[in-house]
Amino acid sequence: MRILIIEDEVTLAEIIQRKLTDEYYVVDIASDGDSGLELLFVNEYDVVILDLMLPKKSGLELLSELRQAGHKVPVLVLTAKDKVEDKVEGLNIGADDYLTKPFAFEELLARIKALLRRKIKEENNILKNGDLIVDTAKYQVTRAGRKIPLTSKEYILLEYLMRNRGYVLTRSQIEEHVWEYGEFNSSNIVDVYIRFLRKKIDDDFEVKLIETVRGKGYRLKVVDNDS
Ligand code: CA
Repeated sequence: MRILIIEDEVTLAEIIQRKLTDEYYVVDIASDGDSGLELLFVNEYDVVILDLMLPKKSGLELLSELRQAGHKVPVLVLTAKDKVEDKVEGLNIGADDYLTKPFAFEELLARIKALLRRKIKEENNILKNGDLIVDTAKYQVTRAGRKIPLTSKEYILLEYLMRNRGYVLTRSQIEEHVWEYGEFNSSNIVDVYIRFLRKKIDDDFEVKLIETVRGKGYRLKVVDNDS
């Protein structure tokens, strides 16, 4: 497993590198945003650890360019304690997780392992959240073993929610992801489709997975896969 650390605090980057190397990871370091982005397009990484305060190109700019280019590598963002809004923005533009500085190495390692597990599962074409399973190769959805037929839009919406489970997605994010430009003609299309989806994947089940976050959007609740 190969990891890229994009961090301009050289000492910190090298400490993380040494410790991760001890855990059998292959670790590269980039010390500014430009070279970090360049490496991401040259090499294939399994996880990226991204500091937000970087010279040349900020972490948020880098992340936004990366996601706009369709790059899916899992990104763990490092934020300073007093920069909560950066964290929120980071998650909105496609970070997979974040960690506040200073942190214990064990915590960083646990987050990396979680991201890797998620990535491996997805490469397997199966997205799993508790008893809800989405087979992205067959476009098949089951909950508690019961097959759930979805229309193509419902499926795309669910897959998007699953890939971002635990994170709030705004209506406009969902709209942009699920519908092509100019395709939707109703301002409440997202709410309508969330309702359709709830009817199919939540109504008959005790644990409701789709959560409404007032004033913000929707979130798919994370359920432990082993329970
Ligand atoms: Ca920094």
